[in-house]
Amino acid sequence: MAAPSANFVPYDDRDGWIWLDGKMVPWRDAKIHVLTHSLHYGSCVFEGERAYDGAVFRSNDHSKRLHKSAELVGYKCPVPVAELDKIKLEVMEKNGLADCYIRAFSWRGSEMMGVSAQQASIRTCVAVWHWGNYFADKNKGIRVTMSDWKRPSPETIPSAAKAAGLYMICTMSKHKAEAEGFSDALMLDYRGYVAELTGANVFLIRDGAIHTPTPDCFLNGLTRQTVIELAKARGFEVIERHITPEELSTFSECFITGSAAEVTPVAEMAGHHYKPGNITGALADDYSQLVRGKISLEQIRASAKVA
Ligand code: PMP
Repeated sequence: MAAPSANFVPYDDRDGWIWLDGKMVPWRDAKIHVLTHSLHYGSCVFEGERAYDGAVFRSNDHSKRLHKSAELVGYKCPVPVAELDKIKLEVMEKNGLADCYIRAFSWRGSEMMGVSAQQASIRTCVAVWHWGNYFADKNKGIRVTMSDWKRPSPETIPSAAKAAGLYMICTMSKHKAEAEGFSDALMLDYRGYVAELTGANVFLIRDGAIHTPTPDCFLNGLTRQTVIELAKARGFEVIERHITPEELSTFSECFITGSAAEVTPVAEMAGHHYKPGNITGALADDYSQLVRGKISLEQIRASAKVA
């Protein structure tokens, strides 16, 4: 296990405020008991979001997805969507953060400890913190290896949920990748098609067209959806389809998307080398302007028509 670096600040020992079950509590007091059902059985559902200049990008869509994930896992998030949207802004304000990462999550509490948890309370929390680039080597392009683990079939697990249990193999894959000097790992799906990274969706470019796996057994990321709209607004062809690992050598550019990762170029994936090029650069720029409200899809569409 990697030793914490000297400037490691543990997440349970920071200054600030966290919203927990209806109350703003001092950061260090936002605790739960060790006998918490979701800790043992993986049913926590969560969102990872970013705020830019005080506005949470696609806040309402993230809140709706949290509700959807809870439903898919078999419970109801007790905090209404509109309320969640308000709480995120209140927690940001209380912590004096305008540019930050936001983690909203729900889980089953401590009333029951068997597999059955019919009477367990559903708890909810919203925490925010400063989080710079998700990847240290974001700008020059990340190096990605192949995971040993595959995204499971939707018949095996509710794969459209952003639920903790789905991330066990992501952490295992990421740890192995990091131990081998890579930034992340590409996961194939249960059929052997290219799926996603451990916390981001993947795009591949060839002859000016953008290819991305069909999200039929993994998260259809909100950033993925935004970038597809941006690419279409710019007039690029976007092809959603099943992609085999054998095809990886035929693409010239590759990038990944996620709320934390934003648009990150890939320099190497599963032994293939890519040049962060014009299309990746244009979409990364568009995304960074869109999230700050400096450009709209309509403006991109209009400028693409003129060019
Ligand atoms: N796949 C996985 C496994 C993820 O964790 C994420 C990050 N939430 C994504 C894809 C991208 O989703 P989004 O763009 O909604 O953040």
